[in-house]
Amino acid sequence: DYLSRLRRAEPQLKSFLHVAGTEAMAAAEEVDKRVERGEEVGPLAGVVVAVKDNICTADMPSTGGSRILEGYRPAFDATAVRRMREAGAVVVGKTNLDEFGMGSTTEGSGFQVTANPWDVSRVPGGSSGGSAAAVSARQCVVSLGSDTGGSVRQPASFCGVVGMKPTYGRVSRYGLMAYASSLDVIGCFGTSVADTAILLSVISGYDRFDATSSKNVVPNYAEELVSLNYMEPNPLKGIKVGIIKETIGEGVDTEVASSIQAAASNLEQLGSVVSEVSMPSFSLGLPAYYILAASEASSNLSRYDGLRYGNQVAADELSDLYKESRANGFGPEVKMRILMGTYALSAGYYDAYYKRAQQVRTLVQKSFKDALDENDILISPAAPSAAYKMGEKTNDPLAMYAGDIMTVNVNLAGFPALVVPCGFVEGGNAGLPVGLQMIGSAFSEAKLLRVGHIFE
Ligand code: GLN
Repeated sequence: DYLSRLRRAEPQLKSFLHVAGTEAMAAAEEVDKRVERGEEVGPLAGVVVAVKDNICTADMPSTGGSRILEGYRPAFDATAVRRMREAGAVVVGKTNLDEFGMGSTTEGSGFQVTANPWDVSRVPGGSSGGSAAAVSARQCVVSLGSDTGGSVRQPASFCGVVGMKPTYGRVSRYGLMAYASSLDVIGCFGTSVADTAILLSVISGYDRFDATSSKNVVPNYAEELVSLNYMEPNPLKGIKVGIIKETIGEGVDTEVASSIQAAASNLEQLGSVVSEVSMPSFSLGLPAYYILAASEASSNLSRYDGLRYGNQVAADELSDLYKESRANGFGPEVKMRILMGTYALSAGYYDAYYKRAQQVRTLVQKSFKDALDENDILISPAAPSAAYKMGEKTNDPLAMYAGDIMTVNVNLAGFPALVVPCGFVEGGNAGLPVGLQMIGSAFSEAKLLRVGHIFE
């Protein structure tokens, strides 16, 4: 059923870089057999999932959206994928993304442009645009994305689905193609908070293949959802919500800001106490993020040398082989990031850029910690606008970067954040969805999911 729906929507949406029809049918039949034999099956038994193509899968290509990895098949499954499969999931294919996760529209894929299911002339957001569009159009039940600076949350907002960015280290990064290792996390998409919670429990947990993965106990997030009784008149009683003042003022679409205000009053009606918090360092996060992300990327992407993986352009001299393979394989945005990062890290500029950005990161971390000492959760829009037209920002990288203002700080802090649909603005055929971002302190995923569940 999902495969036929997937194929029907695919010519318009182009969410997938690879559809694994045969493998998916075989995996589904295997689950059926296990059920028939009376064997135990996991919480994702038979559930159709899609995986962002920068997450390695042993039986399918994994390109990271880059021509430099065209035809590359990893020898292993990413830990998150392995855990999903062990829980019975049926992987239906690999989804489109901005090359190596660098972008906010999925227009930066080396292969194709994905459309927003709400209005196919608009972008689905990015970089996990394929995974968000696929869930939104019901081409799969849930999907995996990655979030370095908002790549799960902003596309969730643009496509009207739930998106979860876990705490840094909650989910193993083993098998996730590194973009900016100190910021990268694997996250999940679903049409409901409950589905997202089930998926998060499956993929979370310590992994000896990722030294930065956390040993904190993984709660059963789905069971946690019912610990608040939403039949009660004030289910959110005692929850303190801070609305980040800097995120609903200047530079934010007025309709988006009013959706967030309306969401805040809903939270209040559900019993929580809502107040405004000011975070003066909020806007500093964006330039700091782009320095740090580009710096880490310039180092991480040095592994694509034309020898180890993917495409190679033959040359007589080894140095020419490197140069030609990289010149040919990387797209323009990736090249720009490598140049920016190399510049920021070079002797003489290091103190002015990289070191300064690290200092801002510490400042941002502190201001989030302070705000979360006073509040259980912080709220903001997930993006300053709803989904915009394809091509609108492709020639203006700075305008595109500015769209990440709501999300990048959370990665700098390493905290978790959940995006849930909270309203619509004018546009498209039937309006365009707006997402509410809820931010919590480290390892507070269960709390975010509980509040999100009641809110939705
Ligand atoms: N849009 C941001 C960037 O291009 C975030 C991307 C991401 O989270 N992978 O860096």
